[in-house]
Amino acid sequence: MRRTLAAAVATIGVSALVLTGCSGTDDGTASGTPSVVASTNVWGAVASAVAGDKAEVTSLYTNAEGDPHEFEPSAADTAEVSDADVAVLNGGHYDAYMESAVADSDVTAINAFDLLGSDGHDHGDPDSMNEHVFYDLAVVGQVATKVGDALAEKDPDNAAEFRANATAFNEKITGLRGELAQIKQAHDGTKVAQTEPLAGYMLDEAGLVDAAPAGFAQSVEEGQSPSAADRAAMEDLLTSKTVHALIYNTQAVDSVTEALLSVSERAGVPVVRFTETLPDGVTDYIAWQSGQINALSAALGTHAAH
Ligand SMILES: [Zn+2]
Repeated sequence: MRRTLAAAVATIGVSALVLTGCSGTDDGTASGTPSVVASTNVWGAVASAVAGDKAEVTSLYTNAEGDPHEFEPSAADTAEVSDADVAVLNGGHYDAYMESAVADSDVTAINAFDLLGSDGHDHGDPDSMNEHVFYDLAVVGQVATKVGDALAEKDPDNAAEFRANATAFNEKITGLRGELAQIKQAHDGTKVAQTEPLAGYMLDEAGLVDAAPAGFAQSVEEGQSPSAADRAAMEDLLTSKTVHALIYNTQAVDSVTEALLSVSERAGVPVVRFTETLPDGVTDYIAWQSGQINALSAALGTHAAH
């Protein structure tokens, strides 16, 4: 059911969204305007913050409701990637089509997942590392810096502007990380539960512990139904108020996750809705994450750390 629906909405989501840039020829540096292609509009928004109006940024997956894990690009999409000057991809099998599209191309590829090891955290075995890198603010900042460097190389006339945009973006990232540090100060060690391991890196930085059964989150991520035991354990975390918030991925939903909403409501556990791509009407990465961090902070409210 979920797969069929995702396939249907993916078709709608394929229409490429040109976020910035000028009209006219679309042949990258030949026209003087570098082109950037990103897998999802989250990475596209990071690139746009750096590109300003001096580069053309296209995102392949822009659907606000579907599941980007299940996106399958058209041949035209992958051709657009290999023809671009710069490609921004999540990596870690999240957008495997990008990894193959950049492999045999001259495009400058920036793979966020590959930057995970350089943020000073130990993420363990690469095969089991959380692929939702766009919730790791430090890595997102590094991606912005790399986009700035790549665009500066493609278009030296605007190098200073690209680098200044990347610096400004990183200052805002530092601000968001300060908000996470404040959450940690007030709530270090507080338990929450996620329906999918979407915000793992962000919760870590905020000192929050995801108490959801590992099997539950993994099943949801893989589009399968969690086992009865995992489901019961998850519901118990809510009804016993062991967890102080339910982090609900609005783009990995089925009848089991929907049932948790009413369990949370009855138990009085706040629900925080997080997304994998930008919600309709939001085009700015910082505004998106700022809103989500504020929602998380509000949900935790005045609970003391425990
Ligand atoms: Zn996901």
